[in-house]
Amino acid sequence: MSYTAPLKDMLFNIEHLAGIDQVASIPGFEDAGLETAQAVLEECAKLNEGVIAPLNWEGDKNPSSWKDGVVTTTPGFKDAFKQYAEGGWQGLQHPVDFGGQGLPKTIGAACTEILNSANMSFALCPLLTDGAIEALLTAGSDELKAIYLEKLVSGQWTGTMNLTEPQAGSDLSLVRTRAEPQPDGSYKVFGTKIFITYGEHDMAENIVHLVLARVQGAPEGVKGISLFVVPKFLVNGDGSLGARNDVHCVSIEHKMGIKASPTAVLQFGDHGGAVGYLVGQENRGLEYMFIMMNAARYAVGVQGIAVAERAYQKAVQYAKDRVQSRPVDGSINASAAIIHHPDVKRMLMTMRAYTEGCRAMASVAAAAYDAAHHHPDADTRKQNAAFYEFMVPLVKGYSTEMSLEVTSLGVQVHGGMGFIEETGAAQYYRDAKILTIYEGTTAIQANDLVGRKTARDGGQTAKGIAAQVEQTEAALRASGSDTAAVVAKRLQAARLAFIDVVDFVAGNTKASPNAVFAGSVPYLMLAGNLVAGWQLGRALLVAQDQLAQGQDEAFMRSKIATARFYADHLLSKAPGLRDSIVDGADSVNALAPEAF
Ligand SMILES: Cc1cc2nc3c(=O)[nH]c(=O)nc-3n(C[C@H](O)[C@H](O)[C@H](O)COP(=O)(O)OP(=O)(O)OC[C@H]3O[C@@H](n4cnc5c(N)ncnc54)[C@H](O)[C@@H]3O)c2cc1C
Repeated sequence: MSYTAPLKDMLFNIEHLAGIDQVASIPGFEDAGLETAQAVLEECAKLNEGVIAPLNWEGDKNPSSWKDGVVTTTPGFKDAFKQYAEGGWQGLQHPVDFGGQGLPKTIGAACTEILNSANMSFALCPLLTDGAIEALLTAGSDELKAIYLEKLVSGQWTGTMNLTEPQAGSDLSLVRTRAEPQPDGSYKVFGTKIFITYGEHDMAENIVHLVLARVQGAPEGVKGISLFVVPKFLVNGDGSLGARNDVHCVSIEHKMGIKASPTAVLQFGDHGGAVGYLVGQENRGLEYMFIMMNAARYAVGVQGIAVAERAYQKAVQYAKDRVQSRPVDGSINASAAIIHHPDVKRMLMTMRAYTEGCRAMASVAAAAYDAAHHHPDADTRKQNAAFYEFMVPLVKGYSTEMSLEVTSLGVQVHGGMGFIEETGAAQYYRDAKILTIYEGTTAIQANDLVGRKTARDGGQTAKGIAAQVEQTEAALRASGSDTAAVVAKRLQAARLAFIDVVDFVAGNTKASPNAVFAGSVPYLMLAGNLVAGWQLGRALLVAQDQLAQGQDEAFMRSKIATARFYADHLLSKAPGLRDSIVDGADSVNALAPEAF
């Protein structure tokens, strides 16, 4: 069950689709060119392939455990985390001022994928720590930054996100955890949070909880929520650890997947009140959390790509080894490895095309993030921000839904053995299922796409993306190859379907919300499908060029074949989605709740 990081594909995207040269022309990223990307990815692959990936299976068999408030992680995790932190990996994308390496997301995102392919359960701890760092960078006072950031960036301490409560999941307006102001400017926090990833564990000296709570007298709903830092151990003036804070892990969940990642129920304030410190201003907590959630949502999308890649590698290996049935074309006159059967190839190509398409989409989105945050020109920042914002629900929603299909196919390729746990294919399938749920379910991503990202600007950003797709179609046609022409045709059909749906969404969200939201998830799938297919269309153009120059023939031919497969078999679903969204809303809403 070994894992090999797909460095070639990642570097191809980083160089040709994301445009690392342009990223490296942004002040502050001068040293982050292709060579740096290659060196970082190679180091990252070494640690993950050698140390972290071998613990993935172990974590599934031997999950984190809870006893008397103490959580013990899977054997090997603590040591691996030490190596991860000492290698500086937690600080890869964080500012140099706080001890990070200040690398662009264009490189960091590929490292996130490698870590998550190696071990999704393990990777969640750094992922949540990234979120906490992001929140403090965005809204924390200088004092909070000085106390917490360096330790978080170095991996000496870890972070969590405490949003969910028993009655408040997708709907955070229902958060009830309360915070009482104290004379010294701190707060006392009381309440129960559930499902808190790495809410308690033994891999770091301190855990920094970022907690949503309501200050006494705050307005009802989302406008009355504030954000607090609540450390597991209070921090003394000299930075050393002080008293144990009143936040305790009362249990952890038994789960379908990501079993090594402890999912904690945290009780705040049962013994007098947990000491908390306000982040930013009162009642603006959800706004800050959204900034942090955008980073986390993107990262969860990358988790989907990561687990899909791992499932794909395993399926390919099995398909080459397993001998069963004579090939239909008689090319081998005996039972042969199942990879010779067209249907097995169809499954492997589907897995590969989805994974490569989503990876390309995520890579391009990462470059937009870098430009949106660091480009010196304000207009360029604005344009890239709009593009990135549009991409976040797509990367999260589409890549995670596709990971379910890919990991399911991974089981299917294994036949009966896929259903047997010892094989390992089932773990990827079980692990992948959480990805469409946490950090906002697919429906919540789709609501975001419809409301904030499409209806709000009347479909302008969406149409801008469609216009870019059209340019790629023209370039594909102009390239003169038959394959490129076929891909252009499919892209055009998908783009026109997308535009119809954007018009439908922009025109009807206010007047007929039930009709629009009946198709919100299919719209998300259509948009994700189009963007992934578009990026593979761009990849095809590059691969044709590279091939003409005699570069890496086998890789470039495979890229062209994968892009063509994507267009023929996946992009071709787009017009059907259009029909069900635009024409099918009535049947979604036909039955009243009592008729079910
Ligand atoms: C393993 C695990 C780890 C987690 N880690 C964390 C963590 O670290 N921190 C944290 O705060 N939380 C965490 N969560 C919580 C997670 O984010 C929530 O479970 C998730 O947001 C969904 O909320 P819910 O479970 O209450 O489901 P609900 O909100 O009850 O949703 C149930 C169903 O209704 C649908 N639905 C709800 N509202 C809408 C709507 N407006 N439109 C359309 N459909 C809707 C949903 O899509 C879903 O299908 C974790 C959960 C799990 C299982």
